[in-house]
Amino acid sequence: MTQTQTKTHAYKADIFCQDESRVDWHSKALWTLREKRDRAAKQLPEWEQLRTLGSQIKLHTLSNLGQYLETFEANCLANGIQVHWAKDATEHNQIAYDILSRHKVKKLVKSKSMLTEECHMNPYLEQRGIEVIDTDLGERIIQLAKQPPSHIVVPAIHMKKEEVGELFHEKINTQAGASDPTYLTRAARAHLREQFLSADAAMTGVNMAVADQGAVIVCTNEGNADMGANLPGVQIHSMGIDKLVPDMDSAAVILRTLARNATGQPITTYSSIYKAPKSGGEMHVIIVDNGRSDMLQDNILAESLKCIRCGGCLNTCPVYRRSGGFSYNYTIPGPIGIAVGASDDDSNSIPWACTLCGSCSYVCPTKVPLDKIIARHRRLKAEQGQLPYGKRHYMPLVGKLMANETALNCSMSIARTSLKILPHSLLKPFAGAWGKYRELPAGADSSFEAWFKRNREQK
Ligand code: SF4
Repeated sequence: MTQTQTKTHAYKADIFCQDESRVDWHSKALWTLREKRDRAAKQLPEWEQLRTLGSQIKLHTLSNLGQYLETFEANCLANGIQVHWAKDATEHNQIAYDILSRHKVKKLVKSKSMLTEECHMNPYLEQRGIEVIDTDLGERIIQLAKQPPSHIVVPAIHMKKEEVGELFHEKINTQAGASDPTYLTRAARAHLREQFLSADAAMTGVNMAVADQGAVIVCTNEGNADMGANLPGVQIHSMGIDKLVPDMDSAAVILRTLARNATGQPITTYSSIYKAPKSGGEMHVIIVDNGRSDMLQDNILAESLKCIRCGGCLNTCPVYRRSGGFSYNYTIPGPIGIAVGASDDDSNSIPWACTLCGSCSYVCPTKVPLDKIIARHRRLKAEQGQLPYGKRHYMPLVGKLMANETALNCSMSIARTSLKILPHSLLKPFAGAWGKYRELPAGADSSFEAWFKRNREQK
C-alpha cells in the first residue's frame, strides 16, 4: 500500500471503525450535542433570523475585507496594540517566535487556537527551546497524549474517561485507576494553575476581531484564555483574516449563535474583549492569510470563510460521527474541514467523506453551504485529473451508464434482484470500503419510476 493510500479517509476511518463500541459511543456523544443545539435553537423564535443576519454580516465583511482589515489595523494601533501580517504558516510562526525570543520567553501558555494547529506552531516553537502549554482542558489532554485534536470544539471527544484517567496518572500523578471526571478536572485545574503562574507569555486564538473597535473577542468555557492573557506581560492573539466583523452589533449576533450551535449553551461562559495592552505589558495581534485569499477567488469556496468554528456541522455529520476526526487528512475534520482543507489534501479522498445529505448546511449558524462546497471540491478534483485511484477508472463508466436510460434501468433491475436473491456476503465485496461496516439495503420490489407511475402520476 502506497503512502498516499494510507492517508485516505477510507483507510484511516477503517482504523477507527475497528473498535465498534468506540464508534457507537462517539456517534452518540456527538448526537447528544446536536440534540442540545436543536433545543437551544428552538428556544429562540428569531433563530432563523439570526442565521440569516450572521450569514449576511460575514458575506458583507468578506466582500469588503481590504477596507475592514485596514480599519481594524488602524484602530488596533491607536489602542497601543502591535499588529503583524503573515501571508502563510511559516511567516506566522516566525513572527510569533521573534516576539517570544525578544522577551526571552521559555514557557508559553496557549488557549485553544485551531489556527496555530493549522500552522503547526507548537513543534516549531518547541524545536527552538520554547515550551508550549495548551491550557484548554481538552487540548491539554491531547497534548499530553501527543495527539492532534479530533474535533474543533471538543478536541478530546475520541477519548474515554478511563483513558484520560490513565494518561493523567502517568503524566500528572493522579491516583491509579481514577476516572471520575470531577476528580480528574480538579487535578487538571491544579496542574494548569502552576503553568499559568510560571508562564512568560500567553497566546490565544480569536473568535472575532471587531474592526471599528480595534479589539479581539476570545470565547472559552474555562476562563483559560483570560488566566493566560492577564498574568504574563506579553499577550499574542493569532487570527485568520476571516475573523473580522465590522462592529460590536455584528459580533453580538454571532455571539448569540456560537455557543448555542456548539453545545446548546445560551452563551460561552467567558466572552472576553481585549482592546489594549495591560499596564506595562505588550499586546500583539498576528493577522494570517495562509490560503484564505485564494479561497476568496472562487465564489462557492469563498463561503467557507463565513465559518465561525462552532463545530455544529461535525456534531451532525453521519460520516464524521462514525469515522472520527483523525480520518480526515487535515487539522480540521468534518464537513468544514473538507471545505477548507480539500485543496491541500494530497490523498484526494476527503471530498468523498460525505454523503451530501446536507445536514451540515442545515445546522450552520452562518449558512455556510457545506454540501455545495464539498460537491464543488469533487468537481475541481475531477477537472484537475485528481480523482482518487478507483474513481478515476470507474466514474467515466458510471457516467456513460447513467446517461443511457435503458442500460441504467436494466442494471438497476439486476441490482434489485441480486439484493433479493443472492446472499449479501457474496455481494458485499463489490461495495468496497463503503460496505465494510454497513449492511446492504434490502432490494426494493420495483423501481421508483414504476412506483411513481402506479401511485402518483394520475393524482
Ligand atoms: S461551517 Fe458552520 S456549522 Fe460548521 S463549524 Fe463552521 S459555522 Fe459551525
